[in-house]
Amino acid sequence: MTDITEGNVHVDPLLVPGRMHCAKCKFSLTRVNLYFANGTTGPGGNETEPCPNGCGPLWPVTWEQEAREAWATSERIFESAQAQKKKVDDLSVLVSRLAYQLNRIGGNDILARTAVDYLRQNDLLGSTAR
Ligand SMILES: [Zn+2]
Repeated sequence: MTDITEGNVHVDPLLVPGRMHCAKCKFSLTRVNLYFANGTTGPGGNETEPCPNGCGPLWPVTWEQEAREAWATSERIFESAQAQKKKVDDLSVLVSRLAYQLNRIGGNDILARTAVDYLRQNDLLGSTAR
């Protein structure tokens, strides 16, 4: 692939325009240029500069690095969402069982109504609580 120039910014097609990172401390920098003449913005360059944390140079980020990082982030978010969904499902089952038992034994009416109200409000009313 050949390099191109957009405006006065040199663009390497393998690099994410304006994205830099530190390999040691994981600091990330996104450079943005303001073009006052026409009021627009565009990506900055990929020139190496020292890491502001003093641990080494900032290196340009390749599209492959960017894609792998985005994939890892999406996997973490998905796994977190799955874990949260399982907790909600487990709690819903517990509340449903509690409401059923309270209704069955004629126990504390306030607790039973609270549990059933919770299930109705969250559209979680299963067959065991009816
Ligand atoms: Zn650093």
